[in-house]
Amino acid sequence: MQGGSAMWFRHGLRLHDNPALHDALRDLAGAPFFPVFVFDGETAGTKLVGYNRMRYLLEALEDLNRQFQRSGGKLIMVKGQPEAVFRRLWEEFGIRRLCFEQDCEPVWRARDERVARACRDAGVECREHVSHTLWAPDAVIGANGGIPPLTYQMFLHTVATIGDPPRPVADADLRGVTFGALPRSFYEEFTVFDKTPKPEDLGVFLEDEDVRMIRWVGGEGAALKQMDDRLVVERETFCRGSYLPTHGSPDLLGPPVSLSPALRFGCLSVRKFYWALQDLFQQVHQGRLSGAHFITGQLIWREYFYTMSVNNPNYGQIAGNPICLDIPWKSPEGDELERWRAGRTGFPFVDAAMRQLRAEGWLHHVVRNAVASFLTRGTLWLSWEHGLRHFLKYLLDADWSVCAGNWMWVSSSAFEALLDSGACACPVRLGRRLDPSGEYVRRYVPELARLPARFVYEPWRAPLAEQQRAQCVVGRDYPAPLADPAAAGAANARAMRRLRDALQRAPPHCCPSDADEVRRFMWLHDEPQPLAAASD
Ligand code: FAD
Ligand code: MG
Repeated sequence: MQGGSAMWFRHGLRLHDNPALHDALRDLAGAPFFPVFVFDGETAGTKLVGYNRMRYLLEALEDLNRQFQRSGGKLIMVKGQPEAVFRRLWEEFGIRRLCFEQDCEPVWRARDERVARACRDAGVECREHVSHTLWAPDAVIGANGGIPPLTYQMFLHTVATIGDPPRPVADADLRGVTFGALPRSFYEEFTVFDKTPKPEDLGVFLEDEDVRMIRWVGGEGAALKQMDDRLVVERETFCRGSYLPTHGSPDLLGPPVSLSPALRFGCLSVRKFYWALQDLFQQVHQGRLSGAHFITGQLIWREYFYTMSVNNPNYGQIAGNPICLDIPWKSPEGDELERWRAGRTGFPFVDAAMRQLRAEGWLHHVVRNAVASFLTRGTLWLSWEHGLRHFLKYLLDADWSVCAGNWMWVSSSAFEALLDSGACACPVRLGRRLDPSGEYVRRYVPELARLPARFVYEPWRAPLAEQQRAQCVVGRDYPAPLADPAAAGAANARAMRRLRDALQRAPPHCCPSDADEVRRFMWLHDEPQPLAAASD
């Protein structure tokens, strides 16, 4: 028996700031090290997954594999049940330690408990480390008296009592590590991938995605480069006395600058990004400006939603979900849900977004808000659960807690936003405001490309001659609108007002901290408020 250790990668697909990896590499003294990813059909969000995200994940694994190869090893990629894989590693080599990064969502608990049990039975030390979140969700809940903070402001207060999140740990040092090699018997028992598989090898196929549209690359190398690029933009924004560069004037057409897919798979450590921003801000302003927590405020939303979900296995649905209001959504009629999913609602802004989602796996936050409002309280009055399932399949950054949390927020189902829905959700007005020239629509809905800008958001208003000139006759080349937005908006606003009246008598529940936060959450402010000078 050679002893040694295994590192189980699930999220946290990186060598930097990876405390579990450090732990796995400690005190090996020549004993073998096994870095492992197990395709169990669920891990890393692979249960409901479209082509683009699967491809992103596999690129991230290939990036890790290449890094291990440079040190004489490789990432072991195997299909099977994790507890069976690790039991075999123990039987074969007598590994003594299994390390992994915490996956805090309740959907992973059963899997991790099975593995912990197998480790206990075999006498293998099983060690979990928190680094996917800034703070351990259990610690936040503990500091708040045993329940998750109900509002974002309360969340901020609670984490302030815990203190700053830890700084990143040093990069893993692979020098002198002896990588274990799998025996033949392993290949007989499991499907072992000697080369990083393709999505097709795992049963995930292109639907109508266009591979030429894929702009995102998965993996630690790409993520670190992307963070450097992003910090240049952040610095310019700080120098202008502002912050949150992707919010003020949303760029719907520019190259990807978002880090959410990298954060979701842990190709980039959230602590690394957090501290890079805080340090940069201090460097630029030399302590002259206050309010430094604002600059990382979006990362705190991510923490908030994770913390809300840890003890709530029904967080992704209405039934049995204690924080979700049971709004009487209607059942889909005819093909309306299918038309929403496919980007054939007849509302160009919504359709462009839904097609971008399928093609690229990416949507800007304001656009997510627009299509989510449209499906739920804005126009169609259908349950957010339909939207969640669709987003979970196709978004690159799809993350159960974060996605469900945002859907509940936008649909006013929890964290009740109680907005005047008409103003922020109208797909015609919002489209015009965000992209007056209609370029975004033209890119993703080519049949509308020749319509003049003044009709591009309302093609049904164009005179027939104009439609014919643009070779886009509504009802023939492009669908007529699925609903009358004004009538639907008014009816839905009335329903929401009734709900609000009922809620005023409700016991304390999770909700926005104040009206301003609602606008900030929807990114509907023009530019984040200029930072105030420090008072001291
Ligand atoms: P930035 O503003 O630069 O924020 C930095 C990071 O903070 C993001 O990368 C992300 O990790 C986090 N963040 C930002 N906004 C939010 C938010 N509202 N809630 C939680 N975390 C946030 N984000 C996901 O990461 N995964 C999802 O599955 C997801 N589903 C969503 C579903 C809906 C209906 C809506 C309205 C939003 C959803 N978001 C989701 C939140 C948000 O749209 C993305 O995180 C954001 O667009 C990422 O862009 P960015 O990196 O430029 O954001
Ligand atoms: Mg951004």
